[in-house]
Amino acid sequence: MAAIWDAIIVGARCAGAVTALCLARRGHRVLVLDRAHFPSDTLSTHFFGRETVLRLADLDLLDPVLATGAPPLTRMRVAAPDAGVEFTGRFRPLLGFAAGYCVRRILLDDILVRAARAAGAEVREGVTVTGLIWHEGQVGGVVAQDHRRRYTELGQVVVGADGRHSWMARWVRAPAYLSAPATAPCYYAYYRGLAGPRDVVEQFHTDRRDYVLFPTNDDLTCVLVALPQSEVGTYRMQHERHFEADLRAVRELADRCADAERVGPVRGATDLESYLRVPAGPGWLLVGDAAVHVHPLTARGIGLAVRDALLLAEALATALEGLRPPQEALAEYHHLRDLESRPAYEEALRAAERTGRPLPPPVLRLWSALAAQPEAADRYVSGELAQPVDGRKATDEAPTPDRATL
Ligand SMILES: Cc1cc2nc3c(=O)[nH]c(=O)nc-3n(C[C@H](O)[C@H](O)[C@H](O)COP(=O)(O)OP(=O)(O)OC[C@H]3O[C@@H](n4cnc5c(N)ncnc54)[C@H](O)[C@@H]3O)c2cc1C
Repeated sequence: MAAIWDAIIVGARCAGAVTALCLARRGHRVLVLDRAHFPSDTLSTHFFGRETVLRLADLDLLDPVLATGAPPLTRMRVAAPDAGVEFTGRFRPLLGFAAGYCVRRILLDDILVRAARAAGAEVREGVTVTGLIWHEGQVGGVVAQDHRRRYTELGQVVVGADGRHSWMARWVRAPAYLSAPATAPCYYAYYRGLAGPRDVVEQFHTDRRDYVLFPTNDDLTCVLVALPQSEVGTYRMQHERHFEADLRAVRELADRCADAERVGPVRGATDLESYLRVPAGPGWLLVGDAAVHVHPLTARGIGLAVRDALLLAEALATALEGLRPPQEALAEYHHLRDLESRPAYEEALRAAERTGRPLPPPVLRLWSALAAQPEAADRYVSGELAQPVDGRKATDEAPTPDRATL
């Protein structure tokens, strides 16, 4: 089969655009297909931390990201009003970067798509991939559909960066070796004029709900509410009313929202399953949410998608350039991905499973201690302290991919 593209990438947001950008900058022929037309919003709040800021700076993308006007978020406040405990930590500098940002996805993803295109990748918008082309047991291309025609494209490898409802993962039957059912549905909305500081991410845990407040572009604050899965049936029928009532249920939030105006609808995701999938097989690769989904309550998905895209692009480029055997390069991608993704998966799941419950005693003890030790609080919010063990069973060892070929 005569391959035209070195890589065909399905999906052009954090995972797909960054993979394309890196491969194209190394001179590879990359085709990116996305059914969306950019600038395009997606169902996601959008905080990312210092590690991602550092990676965006390495990619020469920090200037356009900062030009969006999203305020630097230098602190994190954690409050559990029902338990009477709260603390605030300052993010410690990471190679000179001491702030995270909350950039609206309609802006961030457009920056990434433009950068991929500028690097030489061909990005086609409004194109849906409807199937894969197989040749002797190996993926060799895609079937694509735009508003005018249905056509095929051939590539040495097809990368699924098509998000948490990935068709790629289904078509190649990528095994999930860790998974957890949907938990803690999340609803969010934007508010103008919400009182309070604009340099801090705030998390509230009550016995009924979890809340996150992220200051973002255009003087807006993105407010997220997470609830127990068991309540989603009644909640979703009148989600705007329930969402507003949830904000009024916490005294401090009610006061701070009193003069704020909601801008736009309340949006929600109710099917938040968690999983880690094998990310490589014959002629196919997965990256971003298509391969790993961590619950959004800890706001790690964008950062992990960008990090995994860098790892994948490096592995794939060295394989395409004949510098390393593909099997070895892609096994390393899987291994390095899991070093960070696995703890992130566990931490997010622990946080999600606490939703709608009183704080477990070990967490309450830790948070109370952090309230009295500002320096330790800085280290905690900077991810430098171990997470409390609260009785959740740890998961087993992951396999490494054994089917990776190009
Ligand atoms: C409610 C909620 C809140 C969140 N909040 C945060 C947060 O604050 N911080 C954070 O870091 N993460 C957050 N996340 C997670 C974050 O949104 C994801 O981790 C991130 O978007 C993953 O990027 P991706 O590129 O892998 O996939 P996506 O962003 O899902 O992009 C996939 C792309 O693939 C395209 N596509 C899919 N199928 C096809 C097809 N067949 N043909 C062509 N194109 C296709 C789609 O159009 C889309 O553009 C949140 C998620 C949710 C649901």
